[in-house]
Amino acid sequence: MQIYDVPPHDRGWSLVLHGGAGGRVEELTLDVRGSYTAGLTRAYQAGEDVLAAGGSALDAVCATVEQLEDDPLFNAGRGAALTAAGTAELDACVMTGDGHAGAVTACRYARNPVYAARKVMEDSPAVLLVAPSEQRLLDWELATVPPEYFLTPARQQQLRNVQSRQLEASRHGTVGAVALDARGRLAAATSTGGMVNQNEGRVGDTPIIGAGTYARDGVVAISCTGEGEAFIKGVVAYDIAARMRYLDQPLATAITATVEEELTAHGAMGGLVAVGADGTVTVAHNSAAMFSAYHDGTRLVTHA
Ligand code: ASP
Repeated sequence: MQIYDVPPHDRGWSLVLHGGAGGRVEELTLDVRGSYTAGLTRAYQAGEDVLAAGGSALDAVCATVEQLEDDPLFNAGRGAALTAAGTAELDACVMTGDGHAGAVTACRYARNPVYAARKVMEDSPAVLLVAPSEQRLLDWELATVPPEYFLTPARQQQLRNVQSRQLEASRHGTVGAVALDARGRLAAATSTGGMVNQNEGRVGDTPIIGAGTYARDGVVAISCTGEGEAFIKGVVAYDIAARMRYLDQPLATAITATVEEELTAHGAMGGLVAVGADGTVTVAHNSAAMFSAYHDGTRLVTHA
């Protein structure tokens, strides 16, 4: 497992994002890697702008994820991984450290699924909504698009390659962000198209509170990526938070133990980003690589 643990610095807030875990980043050509770096940087800056202006952790993680959803390189929003039927079924989730949460699954019409998840949290009694209708999204005054908007030639080619077994289903691209704001509030957001070639109706860990996404003020905020079924069965994000709360484990210790026991021990691959209540930022993965961006106190660090 690789883990990067960055102690809090004096900006008074923290932000870290991921763009999915998967195979070796070295496999990317320089051109493509540059585009990923640009996308990660743009997304980090969107969240940073919110936090630097005194905005909330929730606004920051939504602004960051919105950028990544709009970027066709990442497996979320436009350019999401496609189901076996060639459709895009999008999952997204937000949670704030004060215990509020919202999620959508099999979302087909919201241009930015992260904002649909936020509406579920803020404007509905539900926590998880399946396949929100276009009318519901319009009632919430969210931007809607036809389902074809999400399909890109690159993803259609990837699906053909996976189905003809020329390519192993690569999992790079799910996106997520976690933040601590200047008022000490934590938030997490995650968004994905799921796994390439997944059955229609399959739901991964992303919209499941405690599996792929979790936040609790005073403890930690976490966003995960990887083989969703293992994250659900290991309740990975919550397991890390529980280790911190009940065993008093430091963030990096808790993450290392959970990744080892709930993922690696079961042959499952993935990673996560986390921010502790003190502003410590952690990036961890047992996959060969994971796209991420964070600030190390002097400069923005991107892994692409
Ligand atoms: N965790 C996502 C899922 O299982 C996929 C990913 O992170 O790439 O749906």
